[in-house]
Amino acid sequence: MANLDILIYPDDRLRNVAESVTNVDDDLRALIGNMFETMYTAPGIGLAATQIDVHQRVVVVDVSENGDQPLTLINPEIIESDGRIEHEEGCLSIPGIYESVERPELIKFAAIDRDGNPYEMEADGLLSICIQHEIDHLNGVLFVDHLSALKRRRIKKKMLKHEKDRPA
Ligand code: ZN
Repeated sequence: MANLDILIYPDDRLRNVAESVTNVDDDLRALIGNMFETMYTAPGIGLAATQIDVHQRVVVVDVSENGDQPLTLINPEIIESDGRIEHEEGCLSIPGIYESVERPELIKFAAIDRDGNPYEMEADGLLSICIQHEIDHLNGVLFVDHLSALKRRRIKKKMLKHEKDRPA
C-alpha cells in the first residue's frame, strides 16, 4: 500500500465533481486500501478520493476511537436527513483550520461496499457529520463553503500565506 498526497485548499482540483464508479474491481480496491492508509497516517477520520486527485465517487471513513471500524462508501447518496447539529469540523485538505458547521443530525444513506454490494445505513453524531463532509468533497464542496464569505476569505488568505511559507 502507499501513502498518497493530499490536495491542499485552495487547490482548484478540490472543486472537481467526481464521477460515479461503474466497476468495483481490484484496481478500485487497491485505491481504497491506499486511501485508508493515507487517512490513518494523516491521521484523519474520513477521506474522499477527490482529496487525492482521483475524481471518482469513493469515500473512506473511520470515526472509531481505535481505528478499527473502516467503512467504505462507493457512489454514496443521502436518501433521508433529519434534525440539525452544530459541530466543529476540520479537513485534511485545510490543515490547522477548525470551524463550527451546522448540518442535518441524522442521515440515511445508500452506497456500495468494497465487494460491490449495495447497502443502506443510518448514521448520527460524528459518523453522520463525517459522511456528509466527505460526500461534499465528491461534489467539489468544502466545509468552509458552509461558513460566511468573510470567514472563508480569511481562511483562504491564511492558507495561501502558509503555502508561500512552505518549502518548495
Ligand atoms: Zn475534508
